[in-house]
Parts: sequence; structure tokens; C-alpha cells
Amino acid sequence: MQELKAGVHRYLTDVHPDKQPLFDSLATGQSPSVMFITCADSRIDPSLITQTEPGDLFVARNAGNIIPASDADLSAEGTVASVEYAVSALQVSHIVVCGHADCGAVKAAMNPVSASEMAQVSAWIDHADTGGHSDLSAAIEANVMAQLRNLMSYDFVSDAVETGTLTLAGWVYDIATGMVRVRAAETGGANGSGTFTPITATAGSSQ
Ligand SMILES: [Zn+2]
Repeated sequence: MQELKAGVHRYLTDVHPDKQPLFDSLATGQSPSVMFITCADSRIDPSLITQTEPGDLFVARNAGNIIPASDADLSAEGTVASVEYAVSALQVSHIVVCGHADCGAVKAAMNPVSASEMAQVSAWIDHADTGGHSDLSAAIEANVMAQLRNLMSYDFVSDAVETGTLTLAGWVYDIATGMVRVRAAETGGANGSGTFTPITATAGSSQ
């Protein structure tokens, strides 16, 4: 904890003052255009990998970048509530679901016995979908696509997508190389992980 407090001190003295105009503009409201849903994994830093600033990304994180589908037996769920707020109140234009290499939640979903001692984890990863893949990379991609389909199970998402005010995208982040592979959502809901294509230094602006 001491390390964190020292970090806050450095932030207050060295970092925040440099961005004072930005924080002044953000002090009374936000209007992000992107919702970014990713795993709680400590190795992912959404702002770092997208080189965005405070105010740019509306972020929701949980183990496995999961969005339970609308028919899941949940009276309220934090990630879904965050999605509804992002779409209905903030009116974001894009939702990114970003999975990542070496994801522990996807590994657990591939081998549920490994998490059977943890009741909450077991129940949560029931909402993951690895597409039956035994290859971890394919399972990670399949889970991203499944979560995009789950997003589309909510009227407030599918209506906005069909109206053209919202797009969905699936990403997979590789920790070792920093590479992000992207696939536009296959919102129709067919199975399969599809082809994820790397965002390159020259093609990055097209996604
Ligand atoms: Zn993960």
C-alpha cells in the first residue's frame, strides 16, 4: 500500500498539474465515445494500450471480459448496468470487448474443475463461452465473439446497432508483443471465432 500512496503523491505533484486543463474540462461531466470492456487482469492497461486520456474510455472490467446475456438469471449485474448506462445515457458510439492472451478466466472456463472450489468464480465463468476449443488462443477469440453476441441480446444494444448509432468490436490483446487483433462483431450470432486481424502501425486508423 505504501507504494500506492507514494504513487498518488507523485501523481499529485508531477502528473496531474501537467493535465490541469483536461481535468478542469472533465470536472463536471464526461462524454466518452467508446466503452471498453476488458478483463480484470493486472497486465492490461486500457488507456496505455490505446494511448487515450482520462475521459476517453468508459471502462468496465471483470474476470474474463464477460457480459452475461439477457436471459441469464441475474436481477442486476454490474457490467450489464454499465453497458446500459454507456449506451442509453452517455450514448457511446462504440463498444469494444477486449480479451487477452493467457486469460485465467478463459482457462478456467476450458477446465471448470480448476475453479470448482471458488463458488463465485465458477458461477461467473458459466457466462464465458470458449466455443468448445481446446486451443487457448481460439478459446479466447471465441469468448470475445460470444460476449459480443451476449451484448446484442439486450434491446438497448441491438436497437442502437440496428439504428447505426453504435458499433461493436472484438479485440484480443497480446501481452508479450503488445499486438491487438481486431474483428468487427458478427452480430448475427453464428458460431466460430472468426478471423482476428492485427492493428498495424499503418492500418490502425481504419478500425
Ligand atoms: Zn483475463
